[in-house]
Amino acid sequence: KERKNNKNVSLFFLGHIFICLNGIYYSMQTKMQIAIDGPASAGKSTVAKLVAKKLNYIYCDTGAMYRATTWKALQMGVSLDDDQALGKMLETMELSFKPNEPEQLVFVDGTDVTTAIRLPEITNNVSLVSAQPSVRKNLTERQQQIASEGGIVMDGRDIGTTVLPNAQVKIFLVASVHERALRRFKENQAKGIDTPLAKLEAEIKARDYKDSHREVSPLIKADDAILLDTTSLDIAQATDEIMKIVKNTEK
Ligand code: C5P
Repeated sequence: KERKNNKNVSLFFLGHIFICLNGIYYSMQTKMQIAIDGPASAGKSTVAKLVAKKLNYIYCDTGAMYRATTWKALQMGVSLDDDQALGKMLETMELSFKPNEPEQLVFVDGTDVTTAIRLPEITNNVSLVSAQPSVRKNLTERQQQIASEGGIVMDGRDIGTTVLPNAQVKIFLVASVHERALRRFKENQAKGIDTPLAKLEAEIKARDYKDSHREVSPLIKADDAILLDTTSLDIAQATDEIMKIVKNTEK
C-alpha cells in the first residue's frame, strides 16, 4: 500500500512539474516582442498602445526617448549635433515612463516632460539629435533592456532593423504624407493649436527625409516586416489588422 502511495505522490509531483514546464513554455511562446516602425504620424503610437492593451503587454514609445533627450539637451544648452557631449549627458540622464490615461507619463531626472516633449521646438529638432551615433547607442541599449523579457509592443523607426532584430512580429506602418498631415491637423485642432495643413505637410516631409537618410539606423522597412498602409484605414481597422498578424504568428 505504501508503495502505491509513493507512486501516487510521484505522479502528483510529475504532473505539477509538467504543468509548470508547460506554463513556462506557453509564456515563452506567447510573450512576444512586437516591433512597429514607420514614418512620423503614421499612427504608430495610437495603434501600438491599443495592441499592447489587448494583449496585456507593455507599450514602449521610443520616439518619446529621443524627444526627452532633445528636451534635456536644450535645457542644458548642449549643442544638438555634439555627439560626444550628448553621449556624456545620457550617461547620467534618468529616463522613465509611468502608466497613465490617456497617455503614459515621461520623466527626465524626476521632471514630468510628457507635454513639453510634444512641443514644436522638440518635434522640429529631434531628428538632429536622433542622428547622433552615441545617442542611438545609449537609447538602443535602454530599449533592448526594456524589451528583454518579451511581452512588449515597441514603436519607433529602427525597432525591427536594429533594436529588436529577432522580434516575432514586425510591422512597417505607412500612410500618405497628406493623410498623415491631415491626422496631425485634426489632433492639433482638438487641442486648440492652429497650424496650417500645408506647414504640417512640409514638416512631416522634412522629418521623413532626415529620418530616412541618416547614417546610423535610418528609417527603413526590415526585410521581414509586414507593410501595412493605413491611408484608408481608421484606428480600429489598423489595430485589427495587426491583431490578425499577431494571432497568425502565435499559431
Ligand atoms: O515617433 P516620434 O515622432 O515621436 O519620434 C520622434 C523622432 O525620434 C523621430 O522623428 C526620429 O528622429 C526619432 N526616432 C528615432 N528612432 C526611433 C524612434 C524615434 O530616430 N526608434
